[in-house]
Amino acid sequence: MPNIYERIGVRPIINASGPSTRLSGGILDPEVADAMHEASQYCVDIAELQARASEVIAEITGAEAGYVTSGAAAGLLLGTAACVTGPDPGRMNRLPDTEGMKNEVIISRSQRNFYDHAIRSVGVKLVEVGIADRYSGAGVRDTEAWEIADAITECTAAVCYVANPRALPPLEEVVEVAHARGVPVIVDAAGQLPPRSNLQAYISMGADLVAFSGGKAIGGPQGSGILCGRRDLIMCVALQHLDMDVLKPQWNPPVTLIDKSILPGAPHHGIGRPCKVGKEQIVGLLTALERFAGEHLDTRAAAWRDRIDELVAAAGDIPGCRFTIDTDSRPSEVPMAVLKLDEPVAGKTALDVVLALQGGDPPIQANTGRVSEGIVLFGPVCLKAGEPERVAQRLREILDA
Ligand SMILES: *Cc1c(COP(=O)(O)O)cnc(C)c1O
Repeated sequence: MPNIYERIGVRPIINASGPSTRLSGGILDPEVADAMHEASQYCVDIAELQARASEVIAEITGAEAGYVTSGAAAGLLLGTAACVTGPDPGRMNRLPDTEGMKNEVIISRSQRNFYDHAIRSVGVKLVEVGIADRYSGAGVRDTEAWEIADAITECTAAVCYVANPRALPPLEEVVEVAHARGVPVIVDAAGQLPPRSNLQAYISMGADLVAFSGGKAIGGPQGSGILCGRRDLIMCVALQHLDMDVLKPQWNPPVTLIDKSILPGAPHHGIGRPCKVGKEQIVGLLTALERFAGEHLDTRAAAWRDRIDELVAAAGDIPGCRFTIDTDSRPSEVPMAVLKLDEPVAGKTALDVVLALQGGDPPIQANTGRVSEGIVLFGPVCLKAGEPERVAQRLREILDA
């Protein structure tokens, strides 16, 4: 019986890369998929559902409040909007026109990345600071906290920090200089799970808002994410995200999410409205998050390690290649199989191997994170039973082993 993708004429792939958006995220655990199906069979007040999600996320992250977003990038957009407008419905309505508002976000130059478009789409300007000398090999320094302090002006809405085990300056120092001037810090922690402890780490270091992807290691729906942090900012997030097509007397959102008493009136549909999140995503994310947070520490890691061991064992010896296992891969703790070609093997470079895997049937996607070093990486998170052997077999064919 053909599966749903085959029925509509789309080829399923073997995803030996990881849960990236381009490759449709990961494989949902049946408990998460069942929860989403059940959620789809009822209607609820979406603000009430988000208010309940806020409590669950707060409990698990140690933050005051939380919100389910359509992804970490949406979390960055919503968090930035909250910092720019505060609880001012007039300002919310005017975005992305930020005239007269704090409309600059400071970011370390070395942390700039393509996802910060989500921040800029609020109508703010990114102010880059520091020089990433250590990346160029010319020097050892990166941005320092005093440079962030130096860039703060009355126009600064927030500091954005892209978390990573090697990120500099340390988050605690950024928080210290930002808070000294009353400026909130938004952390992009999209891919920083596992370790599970990072669900709480950035909040405990003083971050005001932290964005995680729901569709990466948490194992939630592809189009989901978490934003957690200060209750007042999460309120501003909700106000700019929830659908506002409602009569005033009808509009009674839970006070734990939105304190109507401090507002002159309700804003219109906000800048975050296109980042809509369905009830199925919210319930699926919460189910996955509770599993991720509650699971025995080693269960998931052991399953990942088994897949990688299977892949490397099935590949066996391939002349001209070294196959090793990296248990401490960047940026998270997901083990990766590392295929190293010192020279072209069977006339193929690492990139040729990736393209040959991708060009087969079914297409196999490997991770290209280190392809410039002659390395093809294989990640376990989206591999299903039996797939490690299929990847190994195809590799042996391509490399003439
Ligand atoms: C994956 C990623 C994002 C985007 O996350 P989504 O959940 O897909 O929106 C943003 N920032 C970083 C650093 C990421 O790795």
